[in-house]
Amino acid sequence: MYIGRLQLKGFKSFGGSHDLILSSGFTAIVGPNGSGKSNLLDALRWSLGDSSASRLRISRQSDLLFQGSVSKETAREAEVTLHLREDDRLCSVKRRVTAPDGTTSLFVDNARKTLTELDEIKRSWKLEGARFAFIGQGEVQEVLKQSPSERRMHLEVLFGIDIYRKKRMEAQDR
Ligand code: ATP
Ligand code: MG
Repeated sequence: MYIGRLQLKGFKSFGGSHDLILSSGFTAIVGPNGSGKSNLLDALRWSLGDSSASRLRISRQSDLLFQGSVSKETAREAEVTLHLREDDRLCSVKRRVTAPDGTTSLFVDNARKTLTELDEIKRSWKLEGARFAFIGQGEVQEVLKQSPSERRMHLEVLFGIDIYRKKRMEAQDR
C-alpha cells in the first residue's frame, strides 16, 4: 500500500489548494528550513487520525488553519485528503478542520467516520506496526528520554495492542 495522492487545502503553511501525485517506492521531500517539509508530515499524521497537539506542533486544532499571507487570505477551513493505493484497491481518507472553534470531521471514502472507526479501518488495512510509522524531528531523542511506562505505551501503539487498553477503559466507563 502506498500514498498515491495527497491533497491539501488551507493546511498550515499550505494556503490555497495543492495536489501532489506520488508514485510507489521511496519519496524524498526536500526544501529549505521553514518551507513546510514537517508540515507535510503533520498533514499525513493528522489525516490518519493523530490529534496530538505536541506531535502536530500546535496549541489547538485551529492552528492547523493557514494563517494568511500578504497575497492569500486566512483559511476558514483546512482539509487534507490522502488517497491510498494497493494494486487496484483505492481508498481515500479526508480530515477537515473549520474555523473558528477548530471542529474536525473525518471521512473514509466520503462516508463520515469517528476516530475510533478510523482506528479499526486502519487495522483492517494493516496500517500499524512496522508497516506504518512516523518518526518526527527530535523523536528519536524523545524515545531515549521516555520513562519505562511511557516507553511501554509507545510500544503498545507500535504493536497495535493499545486498542485493547482503550476498549477495556471504555467498557469500564459504561
Ligand atoms: P526545517 O528544515 O527547519 O525542519 P520545515 O521545512 O520542516 O523546516 P515546517 O516546520 O514544515 O518547516 O514549516 C514551518 C513554517 O510553517 C513556519 O514558517 C511557520 O510559520 C509555518 N506555519 C506553521 N503553521 C502555519 C499556519 N497555520 N499558517 C501559516 N503558516 C504556518
Ligand atoms: Mg522540519
